[in-house]
Amino acid sequence: MSKSAKYIFVVGGVMSSVGKGIAASSIGKILQSRGYRVANLKADMYVNIDAGTIRPAEHGEVFVGEDGIEADQDLGNYERFTNQTSARDNYITTGQIYAEVIKRERNLEYEGEDVEVYPDIPKEIIRRIEACQKKNQSEVTVIEYGGTVGEYQLLPFLEAARMMKSKNPEDVLFVLISYLPTPALLGEQKSKPTQRSVIDLHSVGLNPDFVICRADKPATLDIKKTISNVCSLPIERIISAPDIYSIYDAPVNFEKENLGAVLLKAMGLSTRKKDLADWTALAAKIKKIDKEVQIGIVGKYFNFKSCKDTYISVIESINHASWAENHKPKIFWLDSERYEKDPAQLKELDELDGIIVPGGFGKRGTEGMILVADYARRKNIPYFGLCFGMQLLTIAYARSVLKFDGANSTEMDPETKYPVIATMADQVEKIKNKNYGATMRLGAYPAKLSEGSVAHVAYDVAEISERHRHRYEVNPKYILELEKAGLVFSGRSPDGILMEIAELPKNVHPFYLGTQFHPEFKSRPLSPHPLFLAFIKACISKAKK
Ligand code: GLN
Repeated sequence: MSKSAKYIFVVGGVMSSVGKGIAASSIGKILQSRGYRVANLKADMYVNIDAGTIRPAEHGEVFVGEDGIEADQDLGNYERFTNQTSARDNYITTGQIYAEVIKRERNLEYEGEDVEVYPDIPKEIIRRIEACQKKNQSEVTVIEYGGTVGEYQLLPFLEAARMMKSKNPEDVLFVLISYLPTPALLGEQKSKPTQRSVIDLHSVGLNPDFVICRADKPATLDIKKTISNVCSLPIERIISAPDIYSIYDAPVNFEKENLGAVLLKAMGLSTRKKDLADWTALAAKIKKIDKEVQIGIVGKYFNFKSCKDTYISVIESINHASWAENHKPKIFWLDSERYEKDPAQLKELDELDGIIVPGGFGKRGTEGMILVADYARRKNIPYFGLCFGMQLLTIAYARSVLKFDGANSTEMDPETKYPVIATMADQVEKIKNKNYGATMRLGAYPAKLSEGSVAHVAYDVAEISERHRHRYEVNPKYILELEKAGLVFSGRSPDGILMEIAELPKNVHPFYLGTQFHPEFKSRPLSPHPLFLAFIKACISKAKK
């Protein structure tokens, strides 16, 4: 059996948004469950260096790694599925590749040669893929390519994969995730678009080794046969991937199609013992839950598509915690600007079991969120603020309890009389120079919790580490006054300077807590985040009343 590192490329055919990320995560998961060390890597085609500067409503959530990388949301799926931490090495963009090649050219590292799109760009892509393998010591590295086969900007990436495959054919596999439409008029699955994608791959010198058929229904045997013919593949390598109840069904479904064993066979690897029992049990449990808990997410990054991509880690964290408490969350998307226009609508919040105000940037919609934070406090509705939601909670408290009229964050109102949230000292210059890329306070930092606080009880440890992404903070000048007025800063940076958690004590409010960090990045299906768990428990108690 070969001992060399194996690479599985996951590419999409026909159209985007058919679950490539979930498929790549699931492949990682099932190989891991069979005892292999895996690493998942995402390559995005855009020229941006990272996702940090991209509008969330357009591209989805910006996922933050322990090391502060601002990455594509798929890294969140990888973490949730494989329970492994992603870092800089797990995320490539066209921008990073070009920046590195140009930097080396400027350093004379090409020794006077022309530096060419071909082969220097694919070579740098290969170097990055191999560096990820090395860093993770992965036996199998799963590389997901963003975009769809046939796209112009994917070409250097496909070429990199082709070069790797031609060098070591037995170590490199190609998985095409394709879509089988069923036109309503015909009522029958069609494979022609998938065949076209296969031809697109052929035109760049590649043939898929596996085809995963996404569709609303399981792929029919006829369709599987057609695709297996077009690709000259045994039929066991054509995998059916119908719509599922939850994304957590995907690995279970793939194993029903025997994907793990067939993949290993194709790579010349032996099947080690399989352990997917906990996961399978969770996927089965989710379907049986009938009790509901109603959560409102008050945000502003809503567009016609859906909010699911924008707030994916928040949604999944709600899911994990609710499932652990045997409840199914029903999520309501509440556009904060509505409450600004008509505060009477706040009344609808009474119907909810809990409210989350997630992360965000800029002034638009913030007055509505502040109204919501205030309403939740007065009406004893469980409230959980994530980063921006914590800052807005603090502003609402300063305005209503301390009577600091017009209190605000300098982000929204640089001239406010009461800047209870202010620019962090090290951010002032960066903002002035418009130096915005990857310059926030990013990634994991420790915090100490106050004995007996709601946060401390939830975590059950005195020191935590969580991931951050912000430029503003609770203004140290106002900490004492806010505390005197009853707001408890129960989590602080170890030097005591940065306020990491604001809360109201349990005897004052059933759950009123905000975090300067983003707990949603660390929740896992089998180990929900302690703060989400505490919040959901409070929501369930309210629902019972
Ligand atoms: N806009 C706020 C800040 O920069 C909050 C950021 C966030 O919610 N991630 O501090």
